[in-house]
Amino acid sequence: MVRSGVRAPGFLTRLGNIVDRRRDAEFKELKADSLLNRLTGSRMPFGWTVNPFRGCEVGCRYCYARPTHEYLGHTDPVDFEERIYVKTADMGRLLRDLKRARDSGQEVAIGAATDPYQAAESRFRITRRVLETMVRVPGLRVGITTKSTGVVRDIDLLRELAGGSDVRVNVSLISLDHALLRLIEPRAPRPDHRLRAMRAVAEAGIRTRIFVMPVLPLLTDGEAGLRALLIAAREAGADEAIAQALFLRTPTARDFFLDFLRREFPWALPRYLELFPRPGSAPPEVREGIERRVAALAREAGFTARSREARVRDEAPARPRQLSLVW
Ligand code: SF4
Repeated sequence: MVRSGVRAPGFLTRLGNIVDRRRDAEFKELKADSLLNRLTGSRMPFGWTVNPFRGCEVGCRYCYARPTHEYLGHTDPVDFEERIYVKTADMGRLLRDLKRARDSGQEVAIGAATDPYQAAESRFRITRRVLETMVRVPGLRVGITTKSTGVVRDIDLLRELAGGSDVRVNVSLISLDHALLRLIEPRAPRPDHRLRAMRAVAEAGIRTRIFVMPVLPLLTDGEAGLRALLIAAREAGADEAIAQALFLRTPTARDFFLDFLRREFPWALPRYLELFPRPGSAPPEVREGIERRVAALAREAGFTARSREARVRDEAPARPRQLSLVW
């Protein structure tokens, strides 16, 4: 059993050396059984995940994956962005596991709990090795989610992969306001750079979506800003927009985000305390209102638009699943 704040069994035996130190971040090797994890439990629009790292130096204030570090024994939420684990694994095992994923017909999501193209990838090249292995298993369904421009490095490989598999690159971008995002997503590339990366991927013939997730009430949910964002993404070649309102389902994620608001946007705090009196989602009428508004603006911009809920409904297999904590 894994418990919050207590290291998962066998964790210490999997740890390797410190392999890099940059800014305030330390990178350590972590031996994984497999780079591919199967999901069991709650409904997600994919059945398998590849997270090449544990932790993420991008450091988004709203990150729902931040509490996953608690199962590695970290109790300070900042450790998620400063104590990063770089996975090592047997690529032969990955090849075998990918064949199982292909046979299941379910999507493999690369980057559900970390950014697979965060800066460390340029040095460690784990995501690239995963894609090289995927090329050997035609018939996969693959979704890659990133905020990073680093994805452009792998366009050659993505094109090759898309020749035999269904591949989508999901560029995560919630606003065009660079100054605002600098506070909310401190180490993510600028919005214009992300759009440029999106265009390069789309022009290479790879299907590209914009993930407007999460939409932040009062901060990024203004109609003019969302309209401009969706038009810019459409012009950059995205063919679908998927949106979801903020959720703060764990005490760690909620406290971390509310502390951030208290420091940077104190005027917004009372509204967030109303929306999130406890860990969870905003009330359904607020959530659905936001997602309906984004969908209408996305249609205006020429997109096929779906909320994340609709994507789960359309794409999740009937069997209930939940995000596995096994690495
Ligand atoms: S890029 Fe994704 S995984 Fe990384 S901190 Fe931001 S939301 Fe979390």
